[in-house]
Formats: sequence, C-alpha cells, structure tokens
Amino acid sequence: MIDAFSYSLNTAIHFGFGKLRELPALLDGCGVRCAVLVCDRFFAAMGETLKESTPQIAAVFSDVEPNPQLSGVKEVVRLVRETGADSVIALGGGSSIDTAKFAAACACSDKTPDAHFDGAPFTGAEKIIAVPTTAGTGSEVTAVSVVSRGEEKKTVHNPAFQPTACIVDPALTMSVPPRTTLITGLDAFTHAIEAFWSVRHSALTDALAVEAMRVILANLEASYEKGTEEARTAMAYGSLLAGLAFSNAKTAACHACSYPLSMYHHLPHGEACAFTLDSLIRLNADDRLQNLAKTLGFSGCDALADEIYRLKVKGGLRVRFADCEGDVDLDRLAKESAEHMLMQNNPVKLDEAALKAMFKKLM
Ligand SMILES: [Zn+2]
Repeated sequence: MIDAFSYSLNTAIHFGFGKLRELPALLDGCGVRCAVLVCDRFFAAMGETLKESTPQIAAVFSDVEPNPQLSGVKEVVRLVRETGADSVIALGGGSSIDTAKFAAACACSDKTPDAHFDGAPFTGAEKIIAVPTTAGTGSEVTAVSVVSRGEEKKTVHNPAFQPTACIVDPALTMSVPPRTTLITGLDAFTHAIEAFWSVRHSALTDALAVEAMRVILANLEASYEKGTEEARTAMAYGSLLAGLAFSNAKTAACHACSYPLSMYHHLPHGEACAFTLDSLIRLNADDRLQNLAKTLGFSGCDALADEIYRLKVKGGLRVRFADCEGDVDLDRLAKESAEHMLMQNNPVKLDEAALKAMFKKLM
C-alpha cells in the first residue's frame, strides 16, 4: 500500500555529457535575457570563455570562497543591478550555487543582504541557473543555501532559492581530484540514505533514493580510482537522483551532526557527513533499513556500514577525532547536533546522551 504524498519540483533538468555546449540555446529556453555568471577562482577562465561564447552573459563574478560569504553575495547583487540582469548562473560546487541563490533572491528585494541574512523574508528571486561541477551537493535541485557572514554560518531554506533550471554536464567533473570525488560522492550517498530514512520520506522519494544509492555504490570507487567518463557520468546521475530525493524528503541526523563537525573540526561538508555515516547506519538499523541494505546487495546494515568505513579509509578520510583539528568537546557536539532542526527527521530518536555515546566511540 503506497501512502499518500506530495512532491514538487520547479526546476527544469538538462543532463548529458557535453551538455554545456548548448548553453545559449538552453538559456533562451528558460527565458534568460541577461545574466551574471558566478564561479570560484578555479573556474574563472572557463567563466570568461563562456561569457565570450554566450551572448546572454553580461558579467562574471569569479571570487566565490569555499565557505561562501555574504560579501560575495553583495558583489553579485551589485553586478545584477548594474547590468540589469534577470538571471544568475552558478558554475561550480555548492559554494557557487549557494552564492547565486542568495544573490538572485536579494537582487529582487528592497532590503539589504544583511537584513535577509538576519531573517527578513524573501518575496521572490531572479532566475537561477545551476551548473554543478562536482557530483555531490544536489544543490542544483534544492531550495537551500548555506552562506556565512564572518564566522556566522546560516542554512536558509526558501522556495525563492529553487533553481529555474540546472545543466548537469558530467564533463565538468572530469578534472575533480580523486579525494574530492570521494568526499562529494559520499555526500551524495548520504543525501540518498538520509532521504530514505527521513520521517518525511514518501514512495516517490524512496524510489529516487534507492536508485541513487545503487548507482553511487556501483560507481563511486571507479570514479575515485580511475575517473572514467562512464563512472563520472553515473556519479553525476546518482547525485542528481539523490538531490531529487532529499529536496522533498529532507536530510536527518548525519547532516545535523555535520554542521558542528565542520565548524569546530574544519571538515569539508561531505567529509563531515561521512564522519558519522557508518555509525548512524548502525544506530538507525530498523527493519526497513535492514531491507534496504539487502536490496543494495549487503547481508545487512552492519555490512553496508563496513563498506562505507572501508571507502573512507581507502580515500584517506578522517575516521576519528584523533585525525581532526580542534579541541574535542563531546558535550557541545552532542548538544548542538541534538538541537539541529534536521535531527527531528531522524527515524530513531537520538538524544544528547545517545549522540555523545556515538561521538565517544569515534575518539
Ligand atoms: Zn550534504
């Protein structure tokens, strides 16, 4: 019996190896007349090349930082107003896409980006076109943006942030180094399994999540070791499916724990999610998750968790606090993880004591 569900997505998806070559026509199809392209320094040259070959791109902002800052958002808003742009194109990983989302919404508002950072509601946004260059964040199909002002980091969910369209071109991921490929791939896997075990899951998000996990498990190691076109294309597809699953089902305990782990121990987002992933697979191992593990070809949740741990060790990811920077304060980590709103989506109730016990095993 399929329970009732609602699912919404207002993002046109264009997927394919080499798809970016069709950018001007795809932008026309979305009604983009004039756009600002947002990227980080690594993609600055490609951004300028795209500007030359794409009549709709009026300006390029190529200074997005790894933890995107509100100052970058302000600069993009300024360029949007100066050029009279009706769209913001993000070329990059989560940081560029998050910057473009926040800026596209601020550009439509009378209020300042600071006022919105402090909680002023958004009323709309210029068009957002997301072009991901990693296979992991899923940000191209979600209405979430993570932006910082100095040390203060905020995760904002707003319908205004939903991209108008995304262009998922796996060719853009070919130059991603192996370790980043593994970290972003594990982030994508975490999106899928968290969408599956989230209390907000539905039959449709389950279908997307299970297929995402199957594709990612079959291709993650090959994309890390060999980085072939075939493996990279599969990972881009798996990451997209995972994004479609969690855009509606949301994430849970792994992501709730990832924020303090990133803040106090400076782990990149995907590595912070992977840090507790195998532990949480064991803690969330109810009948439903045991069946999932079997569907994915494992004897059960312990074997699935062992596989995640094996991949982390193979890629040199940090697997215990002794490997991490920063002083370990288990009480603070447990408290902030327990209080994070995403923890409410976890299928098993994990209080501060349970989380502290989990973190203690990772010392
Ligand atoms: Zn994530």
